Amino acid sequence: MSTAFDTYQSLLAAIAADGGPSREVHDPATGELIARVPIHDETDLAHAIERARSAQPGWAALSDEERSAALNRVADVVEAAAEPLAELLSREQGKPLNGPNARFEVGACAAWLRATAATPLPVEVVVDDGDAYAELHRRPIGLVAAITPWNWPMMIAVWQIAPSLRMGNAVVAKPSEYTPLSGLALTAVMNSVLPDGVLSTVVGDGALGAAMTTSPAFGKIMFTGSTATGKRIVQSSADNLTRLTLELGGNDAGIVLPDVDPAAIAQDLFWGAFINTGQTCAAMKRLYVHEDVYDEVVAALAEVAAAMPMGVGVDEQNVLGPLQNRMQFDVVDRLVEAAKSSGARVVLGGDPDRGAVGNFYPTTLIADIDPANPLVLEEQFGPALPIIRYHDVDEAIALANGVDVGLGASVWSADRAKARDIASRLQAGTVWINSHGGVHPMIPFGGVKQSGYGLEFGAEGLKSVSVPQVING
Ligand code: NAD
Repeated sequence: MSTAFDTYQSLLAAIAADGGPSREVHDPATGELIARVPIHDETDLAHAIERARSAQPGWAALSDEERSAALNRVADVVEAAAEPLAELLSREQGKPLNGPNARFEVGACAAWLRATAATPLPVEVVVDDGDAYAELHRRPIGLVAAITPWNWPMMIAVWQIAPSLRMGNAVVAKPSEYTPLSGLALTAVMNSVLPDGVLSTVVGDGALGAAMTTSPAFGKIMFTGSTATGKRIVQSSADNLTRLTLELGGNDAGIVLPDVDPAAIAQDLFWGAFINTGQTCAAMKRLYVHEDVYDEVVAALAEVAAAMPMGVGVDEQNVLGPLQNRMQFDVVDRLVEAAKSSGARVVLGGDPDRGAVGNFYPTTLIADIDPANPLVLEEQFGPALPIIRYHDVDEAIALANGVDVGLGASVWSADRAKARDIASRLQAGTVWINSHGGVHPMIPFGGVKQSGYGLEFGAEGLKSVSVPQVING
């Protein structure tokens, strides 16, 4: 299939600012200017809302099958533009084309679109006993605000947009100010086959996001980002009682039991922690390893980590990239320095070139670290993993649960029953066994504690972007 987005250059030309207020976007690996993006204000937001309001009734009036067919057509055009989308994503976000990175992310966008189109959500007959008859239907909410972060800027946008559209809503999306091109490019491609106004993107910073959250136009806010911003959104949306799905920060623990084969799990441990160079909500951010296998696990992980090439994203050999922005580089740098000055042992990395142009922070493993060190207790969101030695598993569970967030966790063991028992004691929205962080479009995903509330994906995800209606009688 041929589209207007056949090449990186044509994709960029379709979305770059052409007059009006704008700002520069730079490649985080090289500092190179990529393009200028528009800066939208509240007037632009009002226009997007108006277009969404006009388009939504017609979109909702289509049958569920027609909207699902439209999502499949969207998946087709995303696949046709996959290579230019991946290149743009790599240049703006920094993630390499290869490994579980840019091409993988664009592929996941298409997969999620198709899975969302295929997920059944039948009308539920809740009572039918001869005396009473009641059905539970799901109706569109109206307008959905989709506010996203900079780490997986295309995939997370699709996670919010696809179910919202399937359920008959119109969407106004706002990408992170750090990755506006990725948001604009994705929605430009999607809009090549969607009716006008059903999906719009506005670009701006937190102030524009805040304006969306106070607007009475939106019946639902899908938000993925930090816990601090999530709390602000709860407050700013309160007057309108806007429905919220909040996918917030995490500090996922992995617990390794003494019965593992360290060499066999090292690669999966590595990607569990370092996918997207650690800039992943449900990445493993603290690793608790039993003393009996501690040295072997640290050594096996170090061997895998040392062999993973980091560099400019569009160089085909790399699988790790720069931090997307300097702010995040500084967070990782501060936390690793705190660990080093506490006497923790640097197994790998920990020595960034702070004067270099790109935001590269080397792959870092920190062993023999105090469980109360800031690198353990705060979300580093980058390529630096603290590895804590434990003696008994109750202690490891207590430490894993000892933070106020609970997105994901993992247990690593040869004994599945034992691992499942430990999983049941962990305070996390998902617990993986012998892997960490994998998501699937049919498996519900969401956090507990201050990692937020609401579920995405599968039938639960569709329910969250609709309102229930009971027909009684
Ligand atoms: P962030 O909260 O700084 O920004 C996220 C988005 O919110 C951006 O688009 C930003 O412009 C917007 N925003 C900022 N202030 C706002 C306000 N007052 N009202 C409305 N919108 C506002 O987060 P980030 O730094 O972009 O992302 C990193 C964080 O996201 C990490 O904590 C990470 O764990 C979390 N995250 C969570 C998930 C998940 O599924 N739970 C997924 C990815 C990232």
